[in-house]
Amino acid sequence: MKPVQAEDGKQLRFYCCGPTVYAAAHIGNFRTFVVQDVFRRVVELGGLRTKHVRNITDVDDKTIRNSQAQGMPLQEYTAKWTDKFHADCAALNCLAPHVEPSAVGHIAEQLDIVQKLIDKGHAYQSEDGSVYFRISSYADYGRLAHLDRQTLDLGKTAETRADVDEYDKDSVADFVLWKARRPEDGPNYWDSPWGQGRPGWHLECSAMSHKYLGDTFDLHSGGVDLVFPHHENEIAQSRCACGGESARHWFHVTHLLVDGAKMSKSLGNMYTLDQLQEMSYTPAALRYVLASAYYRRPLNFTLAGMKDATSALNKLGRFDKELAKAAAAKEPTYRDLVKAHPEPGAFAAAWASLEDDLNTPEALGHVFSAIKGIKPAELPAQEAAALWQQFRLIMEALGLQLPDPDADIEVPEDIKAIADERWAARLAKDWAKADELRGRLAELGWGMKDGKDGYKLAKI
Ligand code: AMP
Ligand code: ZN
Repeated sequence: MKPVQAEDGKQLRFYCCGPTVYAAAHIGNFRTFVVQDVFRRVVELGGLRTKHVRNITDVDDKTIRNSQAQGMPLQEYTAKWTDKFHADCAALNCLAPHVEPSAVGHIAEQLDIVQKLIDKGHAYQSEDGSVYFRISSYADYGRLAHLDRQTLDLGKTAETRADVDEYDKDSVADFVLWKARRPEDGPNYWDSPWGQGRPGWHLECSAMSHKYLGDTFDLHSGGVDLVFPHHENEIAQSRCACGGESARHWFHVTHLLVDGAKMSKSLGNMYTLDQLQEMSYTPAALRYVLASAYYRRPLNFTLAGMKDATSALNKLGRFDKELAKAAAAKEPTYRDLVKAHPEPGAFAAAWASLEDDLNTPEALGHVFSAIKGIKPAELPAQEAAALWQQFRLIMEALGLQLPDPDADIEVPEDIKAIADERWAARLAKDWAKADELRGRLAELGWGMKDGKDGYKLAKI
């Protein structure tokens, strides 16, 4: 992705599929949202304005199922998880999208697309009362997901209609646009010219991208699982109903794995931000892990990786603090840097990596090489100030909030207890025990510095 050019040369318009608000988003979801955030930051710091639209999926099979299981009205239930999503995004330093429309807030727009598709012969109402998209009516169906049109049995696609939201490539079928009301949907239905029901999942993104970005826009993004059927179906709906190209480029983020395996509740390897914070990792460390992997490759998440991220951030934080002291200037913020659009100078190689298909691991490699030779305290103030801007340009592109290495950190009680025990062992000259406890602290990600009258704990 050599910087994607905006169609009008001024503002890059992009759409991201947002969260399904039926539970707390997991760290895999946040891989995608963080990478999209890095993309936006690189574009904006590179000098283009953006219009970023990201939807909230608040009506689908999962939100209805879970809200009913909790005995809560759908809107109350999804509002709770939307708030949680916003809080997690803020903790992970993700910029808020410029528009964040929800599916329930755009029923009329979705009905309008269904009507257009019926009028143009791309959709039909079946005997079960639902309205389906007729795949055989759209010659380009399958291009994004590289489906082989030759082997697609178009006669069969209509016979094996898909009325669930998620299915795989082996089950290509006419897909549902409007689902007729069923008892299991409870009170979650709307009136339509085709009877009461609710929209199919794929429809909402066509309706909302069209409303806020028009027939043709620059870029559309999501996790790689969305290529089929969600994005394939979206393209079909948008192009057939609205004309235009829909998205000119597609940008998919490869999945995050945990300890080499797909995340799943049954494997017990599905982490949320809260769970990591309970283990005393910071949101910044998670952001570092998520932002520092190349988006086209799978990212294998491990707790050891979180520890490494914590030490890397501490190192960067220390360098930042030294620069701040030497520069004696106002702290450069994201907005300042977007406005000033400074040259990357000493960090030119890192910036070039970001511009070259968002190669974030390479960019960080360049950052660590560059800071190795620099001693901020020895620089004249003006030079330090310029360097601080250049360094912050890369940190802000990655959205890394750096810790203050000298700030008092909150030490969890269990860590403090081990440290106290070690200090006592040391006073009793039980060196073997003291060493063993030092090792245990290190395993938990803490370092202990011994002073004359006491100890200091620091994250490593
Ligand atoms: P959802 O809330 O399920 O609609 O997903 C929100 C976003 O997270 C979508 O863009 C998904 O493609 C993405 N996503 C889901 N699982 C993962 C994963 N394991 N790694 C990266 N992205 C994911
Ligand atoms: Zn979508």
